[in-house]
Amino acid sequence: MKTLLIDDDDFALKLLQRQMQNVGHGDVSLCVRARDAVDLLEAQPEAFDLVFCDLQMPDMDGVEFMRHLGRIGYRGGLVLVSGEDGRILQTARRLAQAHQIDLLGTLHQPVSIDRLRKVLARRATQRGAAPGTGQVAFPPADIAAAITGGQLVNHYQPQVDLRTGALVGVEALVRWQHPQAGLVYPDRFIGVAEEHDLMDGLTRAVLAAGLRQAQQWREAGLDLQLAVNISMDNLAALNFPEVVVGLACEADVALNRLVLEVTESRLMTQDTRVPLDIVTRLRLKGVGLSIDDFGTGHSSLAQLRDMPFDEIKLDRSFVHGVAADASLAAIVQGTLTMAHQLGMKSVAEGIEEQADWDFLRAHGCDVAQGYFIARPMPGAALPTWYADWQRRAGTLVQGLPAASEDGMAEAGA
Ligand code: C2E
Ligand code: MG
Ligand code: MG
Repeated sequence: MKTLLIDDDDFALKLLQRQMQNVGHGDVSLCVRARDAVDLLEAQPEAFDLVFCDLQMPDMDGVEFMRHLGRIGYRGGLVLVSGEDGRILQTARRLAQAHQIDLLGTLHQPVSIDRLRKVLARRATQRGAAPGTGQVAFPPADIAAAITGGQLVNHYQPQVDLRTGALVGVEALVRWQHPQAGLVYPDRFIGVAEEHDLMDGLTRAVLAAGLRQAQQWREAGLDLQLAVNISMDNLAALNFPEVVVGLACEADVALNRLVLEVTESRLMTQDTRVPLDIVTRLRLKGVGLSIDDFGTGHSSLAQLRDMPFDEIKLDRSFVHGVAADASLAAIVQGTLTMAHQLGMKSVAEGIEEQADWDFLRAHGCDVAQGYFIARPMPGAALPTWYADWQRRAGTLVQGLPAASEDGMAEAGA
């Protein structure tokens, strides 16, 4: 692995070089000027797999440097080294994401060997696992054929009550069982489907399959709420509530067991009267309405004001890591307070580890969803997972006093 180290401080640079040697990464080049590093990378963007860059340098700071990396199309990993405080590093991290740079981590100066090892290990695991980038989009005709040809399958991710650990519902997440490409994730076809007017058919397929599955689970003794993602496009046809009612009747599922999750993936350009008419009628029929990815650019306070939502889904970019980040903690706590005051149910998505779970639980969030609880799975796998979860949940809901106002902590089973 070829590494480039950049720091205006010659001593810091040599020290880092020595540390890299100590952890078995001796193949490094050094630059005291970021400008030289940019020239090097520009000439040969693939010459280095890894770049360490000091955030604060006189000739060019780390932010400017990342802008260059983005422009050059550098595809390796980046580590930011800095003495700056957490919030600046956090912003730098977001910026790296926006530039689609694979930021492996940030290191505080003086760099500890342990942290360095961790960051390098991340490089090893992320390599080869990096999905998405560079993959070509599918032609709309193929997607249309997949919808009508029954190639779409739903996976389901459990949602559990944070106080009691009880399984309360699932979110249906669509996948495409592609004959050649294997299992294709929605980020590779929803956008194209939206651009080519395919969302009516897609949503109908997901809803129908989800409702049938919910009915089957109920027969097996699991009465679960079903959440389905819909697109703004679905809120353009005035008969959408009738479609939903029809499908729910067919599957014999009560409308109050269904939640529709909305994100504004595209700006609401059409007349707002139509979407409002639709969602209000759905709510009147008892269907739940959730504002998905809340807090991101597309799911805003204005939407919350204008639409009759009864559930807020905190975006996972605020949830994972919340316990260790003061900014995230403030945002999450503020959102939970607001949800509570508005009488809305709060759902946290992207709970990846116990610390996330403990934080959300202690701060009175209602429902949890995320890899820590379960990854999305085929419907048939749910009962097996559930049996296992019942054993696990007992310990997860013990001990912690829930901080919500009405919140008496419930002892685990
Ligand atoms: P979403 O509705 O916000 O769904 C949550 C996404 O986060 C899912 O990705 C899920 O697999 C992932 N996820 C769940 N837990 C964790 C976690 O702990 N950590 C991390 N890093 N990720 C987690 P997926 O299935 O790839 O779906 C991506 C998006 O595609 C969904 O985001 C939703 O906006 C859209 N989508 C999925 N199915 C449908 C559908 O049937 N219709 C529409 N219109 N959109 C859909
Ligand atoms: Mg969703
Ligand atoms: Mg979401």
